[in-house]
Amino acid sequence: MVDDASPVVVEVSGLSKHYGEGPTRVDALQGVDLKVLSGEVVALLGPSGSGKTTLLNIIGCIIEPSDGSVWLDGETVYDKRWLRDNLRRLRLDKIGFIFQFHNLLPFLNARDNVALVLHLAGKSDAEAQKRAVELLDYLEIGHRKDAMPALLSGGEAQRVAIARALANSPRIILADEPTAALDSKRAGIVMDLLRKLAAEQHACIIAVTHDEKIYDRFDRLYHLRDGHLQEQTA
Ligand code: ADP
Ligand code: MG
Repeated sequence: MVDDASPVVVEVSGLSKHYGEGPTRVDALQGVDLKVLSGEVVALLGPSGSGKTTLLNIIGCIIEPSDGSVWLDGETVYDKRWLRDNLRRLRLDKIGFIFQFHNLLPFLNARDNVALVLHLAGKSDAEAQKRAVELLDYLEIGHRKDAMPALLSGGEAQRVAIARALANSPRIILADEPTAALDSKRAGIVMDLLRKLAAEQHACIIAVTHDEKIYDRFDRLYHLRDGHLQEQTA
């Protein structure tokens, strides 16, 4: 086990997940152990159906494991059962999600897309607007703060989505194919940004990817095969 002073941000151990029972049972994860440190950017690789999204969604407290334990940023959140009543609050406090497609709300401009998350976390209107603009500036997209999502390029929209994921300063950023919709130059820019964020915000990033061109941007590569996780050693 790890304590508060530890640089470990995510630790899962003996994690298993099966869907269904009897002849239709699927063992999506089987005895997965993973530890991710502050500042680390790690990739989850593996063929379709190998359990990548399941693992990401368990770490994100979106789906419940079948067995094992999950420790996130200073607390055990799952140990054979959820140890917190309010999982939504837990997600808001600890986790930022980035998806393959940006998932911005089409009827809100860039700034309001970011501010919305801050409202949900209880910030006042003025605070939320101020922090949203700061975040967009930090991601070098501040000049597009009034633009509606439909008018942003793919790379611009993904940067707004990253600003939104960071709004509550989560220490855990989970990304499901964050660069899949981008060309390789834009993908490189987004990955460099994520690396910078992880270092500066003492966060960790766990990203599912199939994009071999960005493998060199990760500190570690993990492969999932039939629910088993293994680190790639050079
Ligand atoms: P990946 O993201 O690597 O493609 P997933 O985690 O989505 O893999 O899926 C792992 C396995 O679990 C697959 O066999 C998939 O069909 C199965 N699975 C995923 N979600 C469900 C679900 N809600 N119900 C039943 N089976 C599921
Ligand atoms: Mg998936």
